[in-house]
Amino acid sequence: MSTTILEERKDQIHRTGEGDIDIACNRPSLAGAVSQRACVFCGSRVVLYPIADALHLVHGPIGCAVYTWDIRGALSSGPELHRLSFSTDLQEIDVIFGGEKKLSAALDELIDRHNPKAAFVYSTCIVGLIGDDLEAVCRKMSEEKGIPVLPVQSEGFKGSKREGYLAACKAMLKLIGTRPIDGISPTSINIFGDFNLAGEIWIIRDYFKRMGVEVVANVTGDGRVDDISRCHGAALNLVQCSGSTLDLAKMMEEKYGTPYLRVSYLGIEDMADSLYQVADFFKEQDPGIVERTQELVREELEKLMPEVARYRKDLEGKKVAIYVGGSFKAFSLLKAFRHLGMKVVMVGSQTGTKEDYAELEQISDPGTILVDDANPLELSQFIKEKDVDLFVGGVKERPIAYKLGVGFCDHNHERKEALEGFVGMLNFAREVHSSVMSPVWNFVPRRANRVIETTKGAVNE
Ligand code: SF4
Repeated sequence: MSTTILEERKDQIHRTGEGDIDIACNRPSLAGAVSQRACVFCGSRVVLYPIADALHLVHGPIGCAVYTWDIRGALSSGPELHRLSFSTDLQEIDVIFGGEKKLSAALDELIDRHNPKAAFVYSTCIVGLIGDDLEAVCRKMSEEKGIPVLPVQSEGFKGSKREGYLAACKAMLKLIGTRPIDGISPTSINIFGDFNLAGEIWIIRDYFKRMGVEVVANVTGDGRVDDISRCHGAALNLVQCSGSTLDLAKMMEEKYGTPYLRVSYLGIEDMADSLYQVADFFKEQDPGIVERTQELVREELEKLMPEVARYRKDLEGKKVAIYVGGSFKAFSLLKAFRHLGMKVVMVGSQTGTKEDYAELEQISDPGTILVDDANPLELSQFIKEKDVDLFVGGVKERPIAYKLGVGFCDHNHERKEALEGFVGMLNFAREVHSSVMSPVWNFVPRRANRVIETTKGAVNE
């Protein structure tokens, strides 16, 4: 392994085929390693942010709020209060004398002005240090204003991004169970862990509608406070982004007895399998559901497969590196790239578990690099070593790809293209194709020498 990999990080990297996998993960980032990970507060913010009719108030210095302002391309079919970023803008004087009064005043003003259905109040690093009593302020405000005002205990320094997901789940659990559940169908679900990037949840909801399944609440893409408050009435929870909402599913199973299934709407097999799992779950209540689902999948695949085959011709054999937040997404991406004939040579995640990496190893080709909680230096090294044609990641990975002269596909918060569902697979193939096949990569330093050599050879002949 090269010297760009710090000694203390070596046990968080594994190459498939080189001994048994025993990757270290789910631990705090190494100080000084400049992790790609976000903080605990950011973890909470990305999960709760798409609840569109809630007020989201960041109790902390302005930088925390700016860092997470409109952080996802999470679309709403109605209110858009979530897109505003409110902050108590804590200053030195508040650090000395405490920020509780400022927080009360901010909540008072914002709730009166925006009339939200609920308010989430996020704790940041500095609030954890000065010890403001968020619980007490929120309780008092909730009584005064008559809406749920929920503290999110997400002090940035208290762990990894996963802690932030947990804090968000705990806040939502307080909301669940506060509204009646009359009229909910026995064949009903909640969609967990989809954030309606580029309108993806609308595609998925349409599939369930065609199958005859009622969706009670989106948790949290295009989410509404009232829906989440009664989502304990649904018969089943579907958990996609397991890192962010699996905790909530487990809490609901324990508290309300609601079972859950882990699903993924990315790629062909996983999308179809998710629908079939739901059909199988409800087949006793609704005997026609399996047939309807088969018909739906058949119709969608008839449209999709010829198009995928067209893109595959150009993409066959091209190499891909993947670095994503939750490792569950990586499973689906690996399978999706196989449909395009592409070879995945590196897979990493910010929050993967030992089980996730073991599963990834099972489905990866020998020699694939698996990496937990990587940093820019490591990612750059792996991209160069494997000479990849495409890097898949999010906003923090994009500059790495472009600086190295590699095609990039945004599979994270900010994307504007829907990549879920069967239609999403087609969008994905199109985007990958246009990025990988762009002639611009022949003129960046990494490849330009090869082009010059080839040209020289042709001239000499
Ligand atoms: S909570 Fe802490 S780590 Fe997170 S953005 Fe704010 S100051 Fe930075």
